[in-house]
Amino acid sequence: MVLAGDQLRARTGQGPSGHRRPVRGISFQVRRGGDWSVPQARIRVEDKRLINCESVDVNQLMPLKYRWAWEHYLNGCANNWLPSEVPMGPDIATWRSDRLTAAERLLIMRNLGFFATAESLVANNIILAIFRHVTNAECRQYLLRQAFEEAVHTHAFHYIVESLGLDEGEVFNMYREIPAITAKDEFEMAITTDVLRPSFSTETCAGAQRLLEDLIGYYVIMEGLFFYSGFAMILSLHRRNLMTGIGEQFQYILRDETIHLNFGIDLINGIKEEQPALWTPDFQGHVRDLMRHAVDLEIAYARDALPEGVLGLRADMFQQYAQHIADRRLERIGLRAEYGAGNPFPWMSETIDLGKEKNFFESRVTEYRSAADLRWD
Ligand code: MN
Ligand code: FE
Repeated sequence: MVLAGDQLRARTGQGPSGHRRPVRGISFQVRRGGDWSVPQARIRVEDKRLINCESVDVNQLMPLKYRWAWEHYLNGCANNWLPSEVPMGPDIATWRSDRLTAAERLLIMRNLGFFATAESLVANNIILAIFRHVTNAECRQYLLRQAFEEAVHTHAFHYIVESLGLDEGEVFNMYREIPAITAKDEFEMAITTDVLRPSFSTETCAGAQRLLEDLIGYYVIMEGLFFYSGFAMILSLHRRNLMTGIGEQFQYILRDETIHLNFGIDLINGIKEEQPALWTPDFQGHVRDLMRHAVDLEIAYARDALPEGVLGLRADMFQQYAQHIADRRLERIGLRAEYGAGNPFPWMSETIDLGKEKNFFESRVTEYRSAADLRWD
């Protein structure tokens, strides 16, 4: 028998939500309560919240409140791919030939090194920091999908290293051995530190702001800014028909990251809407400071990866590119542009089209879908 809300409240004398008043967070965070029980009443869609929700069971996906989260999940699923589907033969031939200059080899190595661990940082931040505090089932559904995609991305870098016969130790240790990479990763890890603490909570304004800062640090800065210079560097080689297998891996990754970025921005703006008091002038100033610092780190990275430039790319172009991208990201979370820099790589926006990132590569989606055919050999 299913009791209607009023009957249930009459019978149990509970509060207006019709639920036993749970220990805060108990329905979704096993570690806080220990006792994890099935709520008695049906959930009301209007009670769903992105964070700090105490009255809705996060185990129940439907009814949906945040349709965007479900749409991002479906779009992510439509983009299934695996690194091993990309032929690496032409890259192996190019890598062994004299077609690449020392500067181009350095550029490739630095980007492999940066991404090889950055993807894992993003994955671990989702699982260990963000997931626990997002109290909405459709967002968690997306986070599960995203975490898998980050695993596929890390896999891609191992696959490239293996295909080209590169020194795995050199590539996967760059995050501790190449200062320009270490600086970006340390910037990100510092943002996660508080959120990782077992006692961390978003119940206070400061706590919720800390989670927002983490979301901005990873979705807007790591995936939305740091990744984009690397995409431009590798896709520039791809345009010259150099290392097209790596280029194709990067196109797949860029397509996934576009959705990660869009989900992150929807989540950030959604939390701002739910709790407008979080978005104080001080906090906005802090976000701008973070972004300025990140742009400086990105410029240092470009100088390290491109000390003397390669055909069509110079480090100073990446200063402008980082500033251009940072402005677009700031605008999407409701802040004004900081730099007013133009786009030095108009061909990148032809590829991505920042204005409608959501639909980018849509025309090619169906051909990837075929990889999901079920076969019993
Ligand atoms: Mn990724
Ligand atoms: Fe990502």
